[in-house]
Amino acid sequence: MQGLMQDVPLNLPTLVRHAERLHPRKTVTTKTADGVKTATFVEVIDRSRRLATALRELGVNDDERVATLCWNHQEHLEAYIAVPCMGAVLHTLNLRLFPDDIAYIVQHADDKVVIVDRSLWPLWEKVAPKVTSVRQVIVVGDVPGPKIPGTHDYEELIARVEPMDYALDLPERQAAAMCYTSGTTGHPKGVVYSHRSNVLHSLALSLVDCFALAETDVAILIVPMFHANAWGLPYACLMTGADIVYPGRFMVPDVLAGLIAERRVTCAGGVPTILQAMLASLMKVKAQLGALDRLLCGGSALPEALQQAYRKELGIHVLHAWGMTETSPLGTLCRPTSALRNAGDEDVSRLRASQGRPLFGIEIRIVGDSGLELPWDGRSVGELQARGNWVASSYYNDDSSPEKFKDGWLCTGDVATIDAHGYMRIADRTKDLVKSGGEWISSIAIEGLIMAHPDVAEAAVIAVAHPKWDERPLACVVAKPEAKGRLTKGQIIEHLRPHIAKWWLPDDVVFVDQIPKTSVGKFDKKVLRGQFKDHVLPTE
Ligand code: AMP
Repeated sequence: MQGLMQDVPLNLPTLVRHAERLHPRKTVTTKTADGVKTATFVEVIDRSRRLATALRELGVNDDERVATLCWNHQEHLEAYIAVPCMGAVLHTLNLRLFPDDIAYIVQHADDKVVIVDRSLWPLWEKVAPKVTSVRQVIVVGDVPGPKIPGTHDYEELIARVEPMDYALDLPERQAAAMCYTSGTTGHPKGVVYSHRSNVLHSLALSLVDCFALAETDVAILIVPMFHANAWGLPYACLMTGADIVYPGRFMVPDVLAGLIAERRVTCAGGVPTILQAMLASLMKVKAQLGALDRLLCGGSALPEALQQAYRKELGIHVLHAWGMTETSPLGTLCRPTSALRNAGDEDVSRLRASQGRPLFGIEIRIVGDSGLELPWDGRSVGELQARGNWVASSYYNDDSSPEKFKDGWLCTGDVATIDAHGYMRIADRTKDLVKSGGEWISSIAIEGLIMAHPDVAEAAVIAVAHPKWDERPLACVVAKPEAKGRLTKGQIIEHLRPHIAKWWLPDDVVFVDQIPKTSVGKFDKKVLRGQFKDHVLPTE
């Protein structure tokens, strides 16, 4: 039909040009060994344009993968801009994986160039002999040291070239970035983000009913830039003009809290283990947290007790969100709607612990064992499925998991309920379920309750084999230092008893020094299950 709107592609060069024109003097600050370094958006984007030219001169063609093995810092952001905007694909490597896993991922993605922090060189040295695809290595001097033979120095490389003009007509469906997820069985799987999905995701993050990212914000970007597209926050900050603060390689609670106080940070995001670790440090600088307004928490279930602690101790609401590497990652986010205006504190607090409602751009549903969609009644439990503008349609070069993508829906492997208002609540992951006598028990619900006990630091619930019921729950509990040796199994069970059905009560409670964590800070139940696979439950 004639008279239609213009067909401007939703691509990152357009987003970056907007940032350059409208937010030139907004800043990117990175923690360094002896303080911080700061650059403006214009400087960062100019440096990214030079990096793009240098990469082109090194032979990087359209669609080829450029990997990063870096902490969260300015140069990593420059790669986040340069690589997609020149038409290549940014592949962020998880620096917490074992060298063999990183090597598998580099080979599978066919990475041609790798940008490595000098501080991570010892790790790369273990990966390099196992990969054949990489032609060039660029080293970012995040720590001082001599030039590494056979590599390019990042600063030297970008100093001697002219900035590249990014093509504003880059097709929006072109690949922009990729991330591997170990969330499924077998080898890690590659998720490929497009320019369009990144731009739409940035717009969604900025909605007032979402994370409400704005020009007036100062955001500290703690989520590793190798995990799930850094939650899309770097691009959203560039788009909105929010100042960016990076912790560099100093991912230490006291340092993070110090940066939040000194830089007058207004918003941050992180997995629950980070928020848990940061609480005590934030308390120490409480008087200087006047600007801090909201925290985004996802990646695993946010315990209600932690959320309440933030509200009571610091007056800060933690926004609970759910997502996956495959969903860019934001899928749902929890804010009370107007319908809950008159609800009591307890109801609102319970609701805030849910994973929230889907954002526009994402559809969710729950599906029962029969394959039929289940009602949104807050009770029916089924597998969560999602589809939308920034949801993966398949894995990169891997068709070993057809069960993940069915009829245009991503089968998440999460088990959830959805209530009449659209609030989704994750009960478990399919593989973490405790199936007792054919009925499921929500390990997440029990964990959340145990972590509300004042003497408990962390808790994870796993299934243990049982002769009669197939599986029964075992609670693995970390006591707070002051309660070690004092806290008892009986106290945990009595604490749970008023809140859950009798048959949900764990058959046993074991006290452990720590809950093992995955490379992105989530409870690693695989390891726990291995540790306790021969655990004999008490017979009574
Ligand atoms: P990843 O792709 O590594 O980020 O892992 C995604 C998975 O993390 C999801 O499928 C969920 O199992 C889990 N997850 C993410 N956010 C939440 C949340 N808010 N509550 C419970 N589980 C979550």
